Amino acid sequence: MVRIARPVTVDEAVEALSEEPGAQLLAGGTDFCVEVNFGHRRPPAVVALRRVDELTHREVTDEVVTLGAGVTYSDLVGPLSGVVPALTAAARSVGSPQIRNAGTIGGNLATASPAGDTLPVLAALGARVGLRGPGGERTVALEDLVTGVKRTSIRPDELIVEVAVPRVRGSQQFVKVGTRNAMVIAIASAAVVLDRDRREVRCALGSVAPVPLRVPLAEASMADAIDWERMAAPAAALTSFGEIAAEAAAPISDHRSTAAYRRRAVAVICERAMRRCLRDAG
Ligand SMILES: Cc1cc2nc3c(=O)[nH]c(=O)nc-3n(C[C@H](O)[C@H](O)[C@H](O)COP(=O)(O)OP(=O)(O)OC[C@H]3O[C@@H](n4cnc5c(N)ncnc54)[C@H](O)[C@@H]3O)c2cc1C
Repeated sequence: MVRIARPVTVDEAVEALSEEPGAQLLAGGTDFCVEVNFGHRRPPAVVALRRVDELTHREVTDEVVTLGAGVTYSDLVGPLSGVVPALTAAARSVGSPQIRNAGTIGGNLATASPAGDTLPVLAALGARVGLRGPGGERTVALEDLVTGVKRTSIRPDELIVEVAVPRVRGSQQFVKVGTRNAMVIAIASAAVVLDRDRREVRCALGSVAPVPLRVPLAEASMADAIDWERMAAPAAALTSFGEIAAEAAAPISDHRSTAAYRRRAVAVICERAMRRCLRDAG
């Protein structure tokens, strides 16, 4: 018999995790329940987070957008779309309306799938993840949270409380390639951010490495090629940006795609995302 705790505060959730060794967190259940149904997961106890209102908070300031771990994809589509448009684009691309209503940003991060759509966006935006455990709170950069394929640095007695996404003056894009246009897991994805204040390009790839992959060489070459006053760049620089990013990718062949197709897709979507970023910022 699985024991189920139904905390209503984050503190109660942390307490429930500590009291039940082996207990696992359940948010929207869109990953968790699939694993249970396939028999890949048999937790002795479950801590259900749905009643923890604190986890659904959203706050927007001039500097940062703070999203509770329980914010769903549907929550990200709407008022937040003008604030973190790349994250909204990623949220819109996830599953079906039912999945978007149930699935949470915290669950996407904790699952840490290479194909998790919010991960490259959060990596490109320099997001930091707030965790709470019995010892208190700590904050880690996204790249320190996701350590491998479905592996994270979250301790068994901790939960993700929130994600802090720095606001960037400029433009941002998320582009995803799958085997069809809707209800699809990414074969490759790319998030591109143009930071006009810092004159920086930031780009992170999804589904082509064990973790969301920043591509510093491509970022630097593109930043050099941009005329930051006019927000324009030569066509050859855009192509080269995509090609350098594709070289940095470490894709595998699996049932969804070949490595060669994934690498080619990276070149195309990075160039496309950058072109759109320049258009939006111009
Ligand atoms: C049909 C279908 C289509 C999908 N399409 C996509 C897609 O296009 N793109 C995509 O990225 N994903 C997709 N997914 C995967 C899934 O929807 C996401 O990964 C989702 O964000 C998981 O969130 P959840 O709230 O459902 O998490 P759950 O399933 O409840 O939990 C997932 C994992 O996270 C842990 N967890 C949950 N909350 C926390 C927390 N606050 N702190 C620490 N750990 C926590 C759980 O213990 C569990 O290990 C799809 C899933 C399905 C079933």
